[in-house]
Amino acid sequence: MATAISIDDVRGAREAIRGVAVETPLVRSESLSTRAGVPVWLKLETFQPTGAFKIRGAANALARLGPGARARGVVCASTGNHGRAVAHAAARLGVPATVCLSRLVSEHKVKAVEALGARVLRVGDSQDEAGEQVARLVRDQGMTEIPPFDHPHVIAGQGTIGLEVLEQCPDVRTLVVPVSGGGLAGGIALAAKSVDPAVAVVGVSMDRGAAMHASLAAGHPVDVTEVASLADSLGGGIGLDNRHTFDLCRRLLDRVVLLDEAAIYRGMRHLFAHQGLVTEGGAAVGAAALLAGTLALDGPAALIVSGRNVDPEQFLRVARGEPVQLGDLEVGP
Ligand SMILES: *Cc1c(COP(=O)(O)O)cnc(C)c1O
Repeated sequence: MATAISIDDVRGAREAIRGVAVETPLVRSESLSTRAGVPVWLKLETFQPTGAFKIRGAANALARLGPGARARGVVCASTGNHGRAVAHAAARLGVPATVCLSRLVSEHKVKAVEALGARVLRVGDSQDEAGEQVARLVRDQGMTEIPPFDHPHVIAGQGTIGLEVLEQCPDVRTLVVPVSGGGLAGGIALAAKSVDPAVAVVGVSMDRGAAMHASLAAGHPVDVTEVASLADSLGGGIGLDNRHTFDLCRRLLDRVVLLDEAAIYRGMRHLFAHQGLVTEGGAAVGAAALLAGTLALDGPAALIVSGRNVDPEQFLRVARGEPVQLGDLEVGP
C-alpha cells in the first residue's frame, strides 16, 4: 500500500517538536573511523530528554491533537521508550496519558514511565496483548492511541533525525539505523533520500525475533516469537495489519543486517569504552554491525545511537565484561 507521508510532513514535524525534543549532536568516532577506513559519525539520540529518539514521534503526534482528544487523554503500548516519550510529551501539554506494558518489560523502564506522571497498566506476556488493552481503552473511554511506529505523524517525527544528519554532515553516504517496527528507519530513509537520493540506509536488527526482517523476506508482515535480547527495545511485531512502515522499509531500505547477541554485547562495550556512552543494546547495533564487519562502507557513515534507557545492572555487567544471562543464552565478551 502506498503511503501518503512526504518530506513536507517531516519538515512540519521539525517545527512541531521544537522545544520538546532537542536537535542532538553528531559526533565523530575515532575508533570506529579507524576500523572502517571512512569517517564514522554517531547521532546521539541518547541526549534526548527521555533518553531515546521516540520523543520526536510522540511530540509530533501529540502536537496535532484537538482540544477534545486532549481532554480524553492518550494511550499507548510500549516496551518502554515510546511510553516514556508519550508520558513526557503528554505531561508537557497537560494531557492525561496511560501506558500499557507487557510483563517482559523491565521494572526499571516501568518506574521511569510512572515517574513522568503516566498511569502504567501491565498486561500480558507480549506487546500484542498490551496492544489489545489499548484498543479497549480507545473503544470504551475515547482515548486516542499514539502508536509506537505505524502512524504518519510518528514516522514523520522520527524522520527529523534524517534531516538533521544531512545538515550536520552533508557528505554522509550511509545511514545505519536500528530496526524494530520500522518507524525510525522508514522515517529517516524517507527524509534522507528526499534530500539526497544517493544516500544508502541500512537497517540493523538482532538475529532472534526480528519481525521487520522476517516480514521483508516473506513479502508481507509476519509474526515472530519474542525472545530475551540485549536489544530488547527492538523486540515485538510490526503488526499483521501494518499500514505504513512495512511499505516504507520495503521501498527505501537498501538492506537489513542481523546480529547475534555476542556482537551486540561488543557494540555496547565499545561505545562505553571508546565514547563513554551508556547505550541500550538496541542503540548499539550500528557500532556492533561495523565491528562485526557486516557493513561495507564506501564513504562517511552515520550510526543512529537510538537510546540509553538500559537496565543499569545489565549494563554494568556488559561494561565490566561479565557474562549476561538472556533466557537460556549466556552472552559474554
Ligand atoms: C523503538 C526503538 C528502536 C526501533 O524503532 P522502530 O521505529 O520501532 O523501528 C530502536 N532503538 C531504540 C532505543 C528504541 O527505543
